[in-house]
Amino acid sequence: MRQEDAAVFEGAVEAIKDEGRYRVFADIKREKGRFPHARLRLPDGSEKPIVVWCSNDYLGQGQHPEVIAALHAAVEDVGAGSGGTRNISGTTSYHVDLEAELAQLHGKESALLFTSGYVSNEATLSTLAKLFPDLWIFSDELNHASMIEGIRRAKCEKRVFRHNDLQSLESLLTEAPPGAPKLIAFESVYSMDGDTAPIADICDLAEKYGAMTYLDEVHGVGLYGQGGGGVAERDGIMHRVDFIEGTLAKAFGVMGGYVTGPRAAIDAIRSTAPGFIFTTSLAPSIAAAALESVRLVRRCPHMRDRLAERAAKLKAMFKAAGLPVMESSTTHIVPLLVGDAARCKRISDALLYDHGVYVQPINFPTVPRGTERLRFTPSPFHDDALMEALVAAVQAVWTREDLVASAA
Ligand code: PLP
Repeated sequence: MRQEDAAVFEGAVEAIKDEGRYRVFADIKREKGRFPHARLRLPDGSEKPIVVWCSNDYLGQGQHPEVIAALHAAVEDVGAGSGGTRNISGTTSYHVDLEAELAQLHGKESALLFTSGYVSNEATLSTLAKLFPDLWIFSDELNHASMIEGIRRAKCEKRVFRHNDLQSLESLLTEAPPGAPKLIAFESVYSMDGDTAPIADICDLAEKYGAMTYLDEVHGVGLYGQGGGGVAERDGIMHRVDFIEGTLAKAFGVMGGYVTGPRAAIDAIRSTAPGFIFTTSLAPSIAAAALESVRLVRRCPHMRDRLAERAAKLKAMFKAAGLPVMESSTTHIVPLLVGDAARCKRISDALLYDHGVYVQPINFPTVPRGTERLRFTPSPFHDDALMEALVAAVQAVWTREDLVASAA
């Protein structure tokens, strides 16, 4: 590599460091059966016990004995990998059964698996635009990077509406020719602010303007609705949404992504999406574990109730301690506003190294500059004692930070 080329890489990293948002990943080992306890590996190789407060394994399903048993059983039955793309020997009964279960979960005719939620969004949205060359896509401004990438790759008309703003959406819908195919892409739970979309109102507008709807339920699936179908199920409107997309990596605790919808549409995506066609399918053991997890989660509304109770309790405790819980959150996600990248990183480091509390800083580009935050995700397994220790630790670190700031 030429010296001047190497300097470009070094310059890019230096710029991020100067802003205080250079990412250092915590090297942790979760302790099976003791969620949310884990061990942090320190630079000298020693380990420090920590409590994880920022996992998206929202229900601890990644450590559920039956999920683990299903994964082991599949490895014993069929081995480690899938052996190919879905077309080339990569379709197993595990994949087929999981797709049937996911379609049922969302009350749809069909489902299609991808290797991650990111890939499912990127592949599906870019492919929809290929199938409808004169498509107009309307996208919420806070949509996840995976949707943005899919829409960016789609060479079609696109408009970005203000977050959850129906007036903004409607005024953009009127810009499209009445006869043009249209798609509204949005999320149910916005994972950084913890707010939810007005799904029914968006479906009303979709009907009025003849638009299809594409809903990312990545942070809602498993957690809302009687059977864990997501916020759309909770609101009784799954049937009004054309495409529901989700992940197997968060509430279901494993990995993989999917999209569900009408049979012909899913068949067309299956037949044309490069992100589905040209990549090895999920390992059968992963599909088996995910299937077990989806079945368990569907049967356990009490876990969803417990999650909601835990999140409400943590918000109340933070507020009582004078900590800035973001008012946007109406869900299981508990963000504390910090508002500065370097300060956010300092607080996160102090919590980790001084108090054994793991919550990573959320900085740009995940959230806009000036809205840096700590994002807590209490699970059904974070008990009162863990919460009390957390609030005391956060309060101590925050007070120290405030004192340093006022002395400066
Ligand atoms: N959609 C949203 C809203 C997300 O927050 C994420 C990931 O965090 C994804 C999609 C991607 O899902 P996955 O982690 O399964 O790739």
